[in-house]
Amino acid sequence: AKDAGRSQFRFYDIKMHEAVRERWQLSRDLLGALEKGQFELHYQPVIDLATGRIAKAEALIRWRHPERGFVSPAQFIPFAEDNGIIIGIGNWVFDEATRQLMAWRDMGFEDFNVGINVSPVQLRGEGLDHRQWLQRLQDLGLPPGQLVVELTERVLMDVAPIVTEKLLAFRDAGVQVALDDFGTGYSSLSYLKKFDIDYLKIDQSFVRNLAEGSEDMALCEAMIMMAHKLGLQVIAEGVELAHQRDLLKGIGCDFGQGYLFSKPVPAAAFTELLKSGL
Ligand code: C2E
Ligand code: CA
Ligand code: CA
Ligand code: CA
Repeated sequence: AKDAGRSQFRFYDIKMHEAVRERWQLSRDLLGALEKGQFELHYQPVIDLATGRIAKAEALIRWRHPERGFVSPAQFIPFAEDNGIIIGIGNWVFDEATRQLMAWRDMGFEDFNVGINVSPVQLRGEGLDHRQWLQRLQDLGLPPGQLVVELTERVLMDVAPIVTEKLLAFRDAGVQVALDDFGTGYSSLSYLKKFDIDYLKIDQSFVRNLAEGSEDMALCEAMIMMAHKLGLQVIAEGVELAHQRDLLKGIGCDFGQGYLFSKPVPAAAFTELLKSGL
C-alpha cells in the first residue's frame, strides 16, 4: 500500500509537471503572438428582440496558434493578465475593432455599435491610456457612441481612483458601457448609478435553463425590471433556443445574443450578415 501511494504520488507529480510546462509554453508563445499577427477578432451579432434584426455586435478575440489551432480566450486571457501582455492585446483589440467599425461605416452600416471586452488589469494600471483611445476615436472620426466597453462587476468594485477616472472619461466622451456577466458577481446597484451604465448583460447561466415559472425566469424578470427602472437596456447572453428567446422577449428583454442567432464569425462573414439585412 505504501508503494502504491508513492507511485500514485509520482504519477500526480508528473501530471503536475506537464501542466506547469504546458502553461509555461502557452504563456511563452503568447509573448510573440501579437507581433506575429496571430490574433483575430470575431464578431457575434446582438439582436433587437422586438425587430429580430442586428443591433450590435460583440468583438471576441481569437488566437490562431501555429500548432494548436484556435486557443480560446478563456484559456489565454488569464495568462495575459498575469504577465501584463493584456495591455498590448487590449490596445490591439481596440485598434482593430475601431478600424473595422470605420470600414463598416464606409459601407453604410452606421447605426450599430460594437462591444469590446476590457480586462480589470487594463483599467487598473497605467496600461490603458484612455486619452489616447479617445484621441484615436476623434482622429478616425468614429462617433464614440459606436463603441461599447464591456466590463465585469469586478472592475466596478475596484475603488482605485484611476479606474473611476478612466470610466468617467469614457462616459463623458459618449463611449457606452455594458456590465458583463451580470448576476454572477457581487452585483451592486450603486455601481449602476455611479457610472451611468448603458447595458446590463444577463449572464448565460440564467438563460440556459430558462423555463416558464422557473427560478431563473423570476431572476431574469427581476433583473430586467430593475435595469429598466434605472434606465438601462438589457442584453441576454447565451440564447441558444427559440423558446429562450420567446420567454426573454415576453418579459421585456431588449436584446439577445447567442448561437440561436449566430456564433461569433470573422469580420467578412459578419459583413455578409449585415448585408443580408438580418
Ligand atoms: P464573455 O465576454 O462573456 O463572452 C461571451 C462568450 O460566450 C464568448 O465566448 C461567446 O463565444 C460565448 N457564447 C456566445 N453565444 C453563446 C451561446 O449561445 N452559448 C454558449 N454556451 N456560449 C456562447 P469566448 O469567445 O470563448 O470568450 C470567452 C471569454 O473570454 C469572454 O466571455 C470574455 O470574458 C473573454 N474575452 C473574449 N475576448 C476578449 C478580449 O478581446 N479581451 C478580453 N479582456 N477578454 C476577452
Ligand atoms: Ca463580454
Ligand atoms: Ca458575458
Ligand atoms: Ca444611461
